[in-house]
Amino acid sequence: MREYISTRGGNEKLRSAQAIIQGLAKDRGLFVPNEIPHIDLNADFTKPYKYRDIAEYVINLFFDDFSASEIKKCVDNAYDEKFEKEEIVPVQKHCGAFFIELYHGRTAAFKDMALSILPYLLTESMKKEKEMKKVCILTATSGDTGKAALEGFRDVEGTEIIVFFPENGVSEIQKRQMVSQEGKNVHVFAIKGNFDDAQTGVKKVFDDAEFNKYMNDNGYRLSSANSINVGRLIPQVAYYVYAYLKLIESSEIKNGESVNVVVPTGNFGNILAAYYAKIMGVPFKKFICASNENRVLTDFINTGLYDINRDFHVTNSPSMDILISSNLERLLFEISGRDGEIVKKMMGSLSSERKYEITNQMRDKIRDFYGGFATENETIDTIKKVYEDENYMIDTHTAVAYKVYDDYRNETGDETKTLIASTASVYKFASSFAEALGMNKQKDPFMYIDEINDFTGENEPRALQGLRNRAVLHNDVIEKESMKRAIRKVVAERK
Ligand SMILES: *Cc1c(COP(=O)(O)O)cnc(C)c1O
Repeated sequence: MREYISTRGGNEKLRSAQAIIQGLAKDRGLFVPNEIPHIDLNADFTKPYKYRDIAEYVINLFFDDFSASEIKKCVDNAYDEKFEKEEIVPVQKHCGAFFIELYHGRTAAFKDMALSILPYLLTESMKKEKEMKKVCILTATSGDTGKAALEGFRDVEGTEIIVFFPENGVSEIQKRQMVSQEGKNVHVFAIKGNFDDAQTGVKKVFDDAEFNKYMNDNGYRLSSANSINVGRLIPQVAYYVYAYLKLIESSEIKNGESVNVVVPTGNFGNILAAYYAKIMGVPFKKFICASNENRVLTDFINTGLYDINRDFHVTNSPSMDILISSNLERLLFEISGRDGEIVKKMMGSLSSERKYEITNQMRDKIRDFYGGFATENETIDTIKKVYEDENYMIDTHTAVAYKVYDDYRNETGDETKTLIASTASVYKFASSFAEALGMNKQKDPFMYIDEINDFTGENEPRALQGLRNRAVLHNDVIEKESMKRAIRKVVAERK
């Protein structure tokens, strides 16, 4: 059976169900499978490729302490009519690339891909491991994870879900989605700080032995719905396998042909899933890592130095306004030859010096990554250009990806077929889309939704219909140092 081990070399060895419940390793590392499984694209899959079948196959390989029927149940419950497109993940050819549309789920962003299934995996894990405590899920969000986690976990038996978002770091529509969330077990707090403050705060809570004891004494254990949880990462691998197979099915490529992947990147979870797919046997050639003005990853890929001693920018692609990309730790683990000691040293240096540098050997191993970034203006120009060229609507994050892809092609002349992860509906960042297309300025952010509808003749996704009339149910704004107090308040309320 596969074992889940820490990226920081500690000697924990868990079943996947245990790793999913626990979220983070005891030595603060992230859980990774002791070995990444292989697939044979010829033998393992049959046409016509269906999303649920691929997801089931991939998740089974990683989470082999689950029975096939347990995984099937999770997959069938997750990827159903909640998704507005029957294919779940349409792959669309536009402007010289293939867009993997990951945003047709319940909250109109790609986080739904994993957070639709995580609650099922978690409750199944709790059953298997005979977990008697309630699981209290702490989530830091740059905007999209929060809503997707709230929707996924609302009223799920045995769970409590608490979300922290940066008060001024999310779009109006993202904010309204979260603060209007219904459900008995949902709790939402705005914090006075940015996403990194929220994520660091959550990690501190995990690390606090005394606080863990307090939670334990009150019948809870802590877990995470962020992409540090391996239960969230692995379902994301599935859509890269699926997208590649779809290119074969539509005769765009021959089986075995190399393909590039472009991912608008923040916490590095999505692009890491593509990297795992490559290790499994999907012939991805270049990983094009696209950032906004918070270009710490661009610099890292180009120099080998990860340095967060720099200003934090609030941009029009807020879900990528991040300086500490948690999942990069899992990449470091792979490129160091799975050397937990080295990773531990680098992570130590990141928290004490706010920077670290990888070895030359490790740099050699990231030659298949290309890093680039787009400014806010370039993002707006790209949305306009793609819409004018092909009437295709892309959100600000996906525009960052397309811009960096364009730069890559111009710089290298590489015309390899390319997949672009399209991560959100334009309607979630409606004011930017409206700005790009030269629509009128509005005071009420929801007016932009109407304006886009009028302009394009489309309708907003189900996820956002009626949102403007929903009551605000959560209006706590707290200091970033007060996250523990907020959790204590939840525990007291729920007694
Ligand atoms: C979360 C998010 C990203 C970044 O994904 P990571 O896995 O954190 O790198 C990009 N775009 C959108 C719309 C997102 O919500």
